[in-house]
Amino acid sequence: MNISKLQQRYEGKAKKVFATSDPSYYIVEYKDDATAFNGLKHGTISGKGIINNKMSNMMFKLLEKNGVKTHFVEQLNDRETVVKAVEIVPLEIIIRNVAAGSFSKRYGVEEGRELICPTLEFSLKNDALNDPLINDSHIIALGVATEKELGEIREMAYKVNEVLKKFFAGIGVKLIDFKIEAGRLKDGSIILADEISPDTCRFWDAKTNEKLDKDRFRRDLGGVEEAYQEIFKRINNV
Ligand code: UDP
Repeated sequence: MNISKLQQRYEGKAKKVFATSDPSYYIVEYKDDATAFNGLKHGTISGKGIINNKMSNMMFKLLEKNGVKTHFVEQLNDRETVVKAVEIVPLEIIIRNVAAGSFSKRYGVEEGRELICPTLEFSLKNDALNDPLINDSHIIALGVATEKELGEIREMAYKVNEVLKKFFAGIGVKLIDFKIEAGRLKDGSIILADEISPDTCRFWDAKTNEKLDKDRFRRDLGGVEEAYQEIFKRINNV
């Protein structure tokens, strides 16, 4: 693709986003930086940016094949990818299949308890407020998303879960939960944006329940790099 990288628009915890010579596209650059607990814990996970870039792109391609519209356009190199320019809907869209993390804490449910059905929850993306939980009615009343957009987001989130759950089951991995983000294109349509990686999903080995995701960093479990590599290896062996 013949576009050039222009000024940086945004630097997040794990990625930088650049404008390009074509206003319809951005270039995303994945970093090795890792943070947890709303930035209280900082670190580096060596090689993470490369794995997350490649893995996200593979997941986006799989989802596109299954009818989910995503921002993915073209991988440029190990760390950089061209994506469609979107306005991010400021929501963390979280699907859970098994209780873990903040859900377990909030409801006093042991980690690992299978949920009767997948659940969907939203948090408002706002670091200063610590990403508070937000319900559908609040989202609409505050103009974060319209009722129609919320319907599309809900449908997209459950579809992503079905496709990913099946894919990961095939490589011996339980998809415990994950976070996605939605973007608005210029024409108002909603597509899947951000990333799908061990930073944003909980993956447990199907046989041993070993954690193969960012919880190894959050909880100081050791073997962080190895966990990212293991997931990536299994995906590539499909
Ligand atoms: N998650 C994320 N970014 C966040 C918060 C959560 O990607 O800022 C992901 C997290 O990796 C997990 C899922 O969303 O796969 C659910 O996370 P949870 O609400 O349990 O929060 P946590 O325990 O990670 O604080």
